[in-house]
Amino acid sequence: MTGSLTVVGLGPGEARYLTPAAQAALDQASDLIGYGPYLDRIPVRTGQSKHASDNRVEIDRARHALELAAAGKKVAVVSGGDPGVFAMAAAVFEAVEAGEPGWRELTITVEPGVTAMLAAAAAAGAPLGGDFCAISLSDNLKPWDVVTVRLEAVLRADFVICLYNPISKARPWQLGKALELALAVRAPDTPVLFARAIGRADEALRVLTLGEAHEAAGTADMATLVMIGASGTRLIAREGKAPFVYTPRSVTKSPCATSQGRT
Ligand code: SAH
Repeated sequence: MTGSLTVVGLGPGEARYLTPAAQAALDQASDLIGYGPYLDRIPVRTGQSKHASDNRVEIDRARHALELAAAGKKVAVVSGGDPGVFAMAAAVFEAVEAGEPGWRELTITVEPGVTAMLAAAAAAGAPLGGDFCAISLSDNLKPWDVVTVRLEAVLRADFVICLYNPISKARPWQLGKALELALAVRAPDTPVLFARAIGRADEALRVLTLGEAHEAAGTADMATLVMIGASGTRLIAREGKAPFVYTPRSVTKSPCATSQGRT
């Protein structure tokens, strides 16, 4: 088979966050496939075709991409941020695993991108300086029970927690519930970031306490990355400017000693 498929991360927003390797993969593609708003970010050169699709049909989009590659095209499937983080790369491999045996012989590559939590962390300072984790709050692809069990475990283990897909019109209560679980374990003055549309013109970074974040859960949206600090996460106040938020790399107490014993 002569076709190829590459899953390309576009980064969180503007073109300056696109890596040169990702740009090269886009330039070399004959066909670009992805969710419409992501495709709109990419200028098309002559001879390239764009195939926009609805956000909800990731597996169909992956199969379509594989069919085009099997027919000899050089296909780039685009994703916001990093394509391996809650995004298209996993859908492509799922489709390969369940699909035509010949698809396994295709040249399939993944071009990484700057994922939302890294862009959000950089905008705030260095909140990911210690151990951290990422959880998607979407219960479209997993039961809410699973989210609860994982959240409770990492809250107790004192990780900084990055919440992707925090809220949407169809999932209005999950973020409030997650922050309620956090309040049961962590101090109400724990720093929380609401990082919205980072890397885009309408970027907005809010530094709140956990107590304030719980009250303000309804003001987050699908373009927001929520980051809950660990016990070591702290602020450096600045006159007239947003504080720096950082987590020191050194940990001196065990999570059992620092989880405030609130339960
Ligand atoms: N693959 C993407 C994540 C897809 S899940 C990545 O690596 O970033 C979609 C979620 O990512 C959104 O609900 C939001 O929580 C987060 N997100 C994506 N882009 C963002 C941005 N520019 N600023 C803040 N959060 C963002």
